[in-house]
Amino acid sequence: MVERVLVTLDGAIRDPDAPLLYADDIGVLRGDGVFETVLVRNGEACALESHLARLRKSAEALELPAPDLDAWRLAVWTAAEEWGKDREGLLRLILTRGRDSELGHASDRPANGSGDLAGAEPAGTGYVLVLPVPERVKTARTEGVSVITLSRGISVDLAQAAPWQLLGAKTLSYATNMSALRFAQRMGADDVIFTSTEHRVLEGPRSTVVVARGNQLITPPAKIGVLPGTTQRALFAQAEKAGWECKYEPLFTADLITADSVWMLSSVTLAARVKSLDGLRMSAPDNAAEIIELVEKGIAQPGSIADW
Ligand SMILES: *Cc1c(COP(=O)(O)O)cnc(C)c1O
Repeated sequence: MVERVLVTLDGAIRDPDAPLLYADDIGVLRGDGVFETVLVRNGEACALESHLARLRKSAEALELPAPDLDAWRLAVWTAAEEWGKDREGLLRLILTRGRDSELGHASDRPANGSGDLAGAEPAGTGYVLVLPVPERVKTARTEGVSVITLSRGISVDLAQAAPWQLLGAKTLSYATNMSALRFAQRMGADDVIFTSTEHRVLEGPRSTVVVARGNQLITPPAKIGVLPGTTQRALFAQAEKAGWECKYEPLFTADLITADSVWMLSSVTLAARVKSLDGLRMSAPDNAAEIIELVEKGIAQPGSIADW
């Protein structure tokens, strides 16, 4: 059974223990690139079209060359098949700005900037990597997660006022997100919900927050500076068919406490129920299994590029 699978955009399966990146890759030098994390189940990448659509959007936000989606699709299919059907996998799509030397030190300029580089633009560094699903995922799915709220130190206006902050893109610059998770761990919690300076609910460091209240499912709108989630969208699509009212609305921290249930949604963990928030226990609602089922059903659909 393979423990790691690495596929490059030419469709070639590579030795995952052999070096792949150059030392001057801008993805490494500056965290300048984008990524997607996808669940592999039964040898297939779940909700792949949604992930490809968001990858394209993220690349556009960073002014990276448009990803060749057919090449990505083929690389993902190859990697997922190689991984096999007998267990789940965590598949990453990685796209960086490429080598600094090949850009002629253009990393400080937009890749599609006018002038001397036109036509000689490298396509960036891209690859697909599959790893085993971390142990924490199983526990989060079955037992839920303890969560603390942490300030992100930003206003809900920032995303609109400062597009260069790239708040709606899934970029490789995740050092602060990982730092927040380590901070939570030191506080004895499993996960984090970021809040704005106005005490609005934003998102988790790697997940979307969804609140269930009556027959409503509510998530904060992307315009306040959260990443549109593929898992949340898959849930909303299924839930609407099942008669839930699904809404994009501002939420305050207090709304989390009074909700029937709060969920952290993400591609690999899927639905993790918040079992305690800032030390306050949140008991499981009767419909917890139904919500999990809707997510499972939703991510079994391929999604659609057109929806993004
Ligand atoms: C990846 C991610 C999400 C969740 O997106 P999914 O497509 O559901 O995995 C939410 N917020 C952030 C910051 C993320 O990085």
